[in-house]
Amino acid sequence: MMLNKEEITCRCKYRQRLVTSFWNKISKCVTLCPWTGLGGTCVNVGCIPKKLMHQTALLGTSMQDAQKFGWELPEETVKHNWETMKTAVNNYIGSLNWGYRVALRDKNVNYVNSYAEFIEPHKIKATNKRGKETFHTAAKFILATGERPRYLGVPGDKEYCITSDDLFSLPHCPGKTLVIGASYVALECGGFLAGLGLDVTVMVRSILLRGFDQDMANRAGEHMEEHGVKFLRKYVPVKVEELEAGTPGRLKVTAKSTESDETIEGEYNTVLIAVGRDACTGKIGLDQAGVKVNPKNGKVPVNDEEQTNVPHIYAIGDILEGKWELTPVAIQAGKLLARRLYAGASLKCDYVNVPTTVFTPLEYGACGHSEEKAIELYGQDNLEVYHSLFWPLEFTVPNRDNNKCYSKIICNKLDNDRVIGFHYLGPNAGEVTQGYGVAMKCGLTKEQLDNTIGIHPTCAEIFTTMEVTKSSGGDITQAGC
Ligand SMILES: Cc1cc2nc3c(=O)[nH]c(=O)nc-3n(C[C@H](O)[C@H](O)[C@H](O)COP(=O)(O)OP(=O)(O)OC[C@H]3O[C@@H](n4cnc5c(N)ncnc54)[C@H](O)[C@@H]3O)c2cc1C
Repeated sequence: MMLNKEEITCRCKYRQRLVTSFWNKISKCVTLCPWTGLGGTCVNVGCIPKKLMHQTALLGTSMQDAQKFGWELPEETVKHNWETMKTAVNNYIGSLNWGYRVALRDKNVNYVNSYAEFIEPHKIKATNKRGKETFHTAAKFILATGERPRYLGVPGDKEYCITSDDLFSLPHCPGKTLVIGASYVALECGGFLAGLGLDVTVMVRSILLRGFDQDMANRAGEHMEEHGVKFLRKYVPVKVEELEAGTPGRLKVTAKSTESDETIEGEYNTVLIAVGRDACTGKIGLDQAGVKVNPKNGKVPVNDEEQTNVPHIYAIGDILEGKWELTPVAIQAGKLLARRLYAGASLKCDYVNVPTTVFTPLEYGACGHSEEKAIELYGQDNLEVYHSLFWPLEFTVPNRDNNKCYSKIICNKLDNDRVIGFHYLGPNAGEVTQGYGVAMKCGLTKEQLDNTIGIHPTCAEIFTTMEVTKSSGGDITQAGC
């Protein structure tokens, strides 16, 4: 979490690159990382296991498609083995943890596996698992303590429910699962569990994917619903009781409507809470160092150089107030900060036009503004929204999800029809969105998209041929390629 004279970099493969670039210039570093394994949330309980489990689910769909393409599978039902998947995913994570440990050692970074807290503005106490304390002083510190899953605060939640931190290493198949929450973590986990063939229900308090384009969020949700995920909308849980212990056991969940006095009950094997994450800033002695946090959410406000109100203490990653909670954003901020602090550079992290993808069963990639935000910032009359449904070629032979994939760009009429919002619901959304993200960084306009020759037959080419504006109400269904 904190370091001496230098930076901390121990999250995932990106971090390893950062380590390689900078450690050789550094004489002594201290990095503390006690809760998750080396690599932090992304590697151990976030992006990596999530994407691998999403991939597991996609393979199930591919197997069904394969038969339509002529692959003859065994007559008996193909089953998924949770333990095999869990072990394979965790072995891979273990190999990453080991790789980071070696990289730190190779670069002479002193890795202290301890819990750190400030006791003075320039001094931290580090307590290891056995309670042994060491003390470290430094000229500069970088906070990168991340977040941990939030619980509900209702009876039975901590005793009987799990969070995403537990799911990826759960020793047994979760069985019939209730996912509480509608964040990307909730929908991604619910999505891949359903893709493994499990009975999944998602309990939603208000809207899906808050902060994302709601048109896209609802389309991603509709697709999940059409593929067997049940949604309990406008309910909040009030208590969770154990009916039977076991692996998995049986739990009873009581929930109440947010709109009436209605109460409902349901039985599940597993209850997964995914209602948000809290910044790990409350117990690290920030008051001793004089660092201000937002008392409402524990987030750390920083200036455009990632500097807190205390000039020698910087912060990056998920604990920052008002910034993206994404691994590459944390890495980019850390990398540029290190360069500014120790390599005479001046480039600052640009938090605008950050591409991202939600790995729901039908993936959703986005860059720039949601339609709602664009309207708020520029006014409806100053925007032109182009959109289209499409049918990926690979879906045609299996005859599935016709006209469920959707693309949308939001253009600013006052600025040469510059693309200020990019939205894609379809296969390989991360791969598609990454490329267009570069174009948006370069100031992409609608005209440039129109002048770009598409790659045929692909999904990504849809953005080079978009003609129907949302305001026209024109037909956007596609008959084929
Ligand atoms: C289920 C899930 C899926 C995700 N999927 C994606 C995705 O697909 N793509 C993406 O870009 N992002 C994804 N994220 C978000 C991503 O994981 C985070 O944005 C990223 O890990 C933030 O990095 P960070 O360095 O700020 O914090 P973290 O990665 O959380 O690292 C914080 C580290 O600090 C350590 N620490 C905390 N307190 C102390 C202390 N007092 N002393 C010493 N060490 C301490 C922790 O043990 C941990 O190792 C996902 C997150 C979750 C939960």
